[in-house]
Amino acid sequence: PFDVLIVGGGPAGAAAAVYAARKGIRVGVAAERFGGQVNDTMAIENYISVLETDGPKFAAALEAQVRHYDVDIMNLQRADKLLPASEPGGLIEVQLANGGTLKSKTVILSTGARWRNVNVPGEQEYKNKGVAYCPHCDGPLFKGKRVSVIGGGNSGVEAAIDLAGLVAHVTLVEFADALKADAVLVSKLKSLPNVTIHVNAQTTEITGTDGKVNGLRYKDRVSGVETLVELEGVFVQIGLVPNTEWLKGDVNLSRFGEIEIDAKGHTNVPGVFAAGDCTTVPYKQIVIAAGDGSKAALSAFDYLIRQPVV
Ligand code: FAD
Repeated sequence: PFDVLIVGGGPAGAAAAVYAARKGIRVGVAAERFGGQVNDTMAIENYISVLETDGPKFAAALEAQVRHYDVDIMNLQRADKLLPASEPGGLIEVQLANGGTLKSKTVILSTGARWRNVNVPGEQEYKNKGVAYCPHCDGPLFKGKRVSVIGGGNSGVEAAIDLAGLVAHVTLVEFADALKADAVLVSKLKSLPNVTIHVNAQTTEITGTDGKVNGLRYKDRVSGVETLVELEGVFVQIGLVPNTEWLKGDVNLSRFGEIEIDAKGHTNVPGVFAAGDCTTVPYKQIVIAAGDGSKAALSAFDYLIRQPVV
């Protein structure tokens, strides 16, 4: 069995692996796709000490650092069930989709999250070519340009306010008949001179030319009229879904499906820790996931050294 088994190989899992391995204990990482969301990222310009890199380069560097240590990397492995220890201090089991079972004294859950897609023509085609999901990450790439934000909940309205300070113009489109964000955010948004808001607006297409976004088409759900807005970027803000469906019933999750953790990364299950985008920690970013991964590994080590000698 492992001392620390990490499920998920994104920035959180990689940081947890490095910190755990440096304690000289048995560490394994099971990941569906090592590197995680970073693989789908173009420019990364906000990881501290790295002026600029790209996703695949960053993912390769994560893996190289983990491989530098004696860590058992099990790539292309999907976990689909967690079995808590049957007795205090006992082994925790993780069942894999391929039928195998891994056993460990502690488990760190770092399965990340995925952005919900709008599923309209153009979205996949222009991903990273004008279609973006993270205003903190990609907002500055659209400086002085025109963008749209799809979604009028808190994240959409926050994104629109944030982007309005950087870009030339923001068009926010919301499917429902009203913005669902907090009133204070809505009034802030409405006070901005370079923002246009459309409610009852169903996005039907993201258009482009020469491999880049050039517009967003929406249908007014009341009049049925279709409108094409010319712009250079589209931020999809209709939800971030944590990859925690497989943990339902075994680990406490928030109403958004995020693993509930305390300040040290403990879940409600003894010996089970969590870090990164799959947890309740706010602001889903690489630097935050990496910090929390290292924190969870140190907490797991703390737990291990407190186990009674048998
Ligand atoms: P993830 O990166 O999501 O990794 C999760 C890991 O778990 C993966 O290895 C996955 O395969 C694995 N996994 C999932 N489910 C299972 C399972 N059941 N069994 C086994 N393994 C599983 N952040 C920034 O700071 N700067 C940026 O510029 C930036 N740009 C971004 C651009 C895009 C397009 C996207 C999508 C995100 C961007 N982010 C950026 C956000 C950043 O990528 C995430 O915050 C970060 O990757 C979270 O790390 P994580 O380790 O928690 O999860």
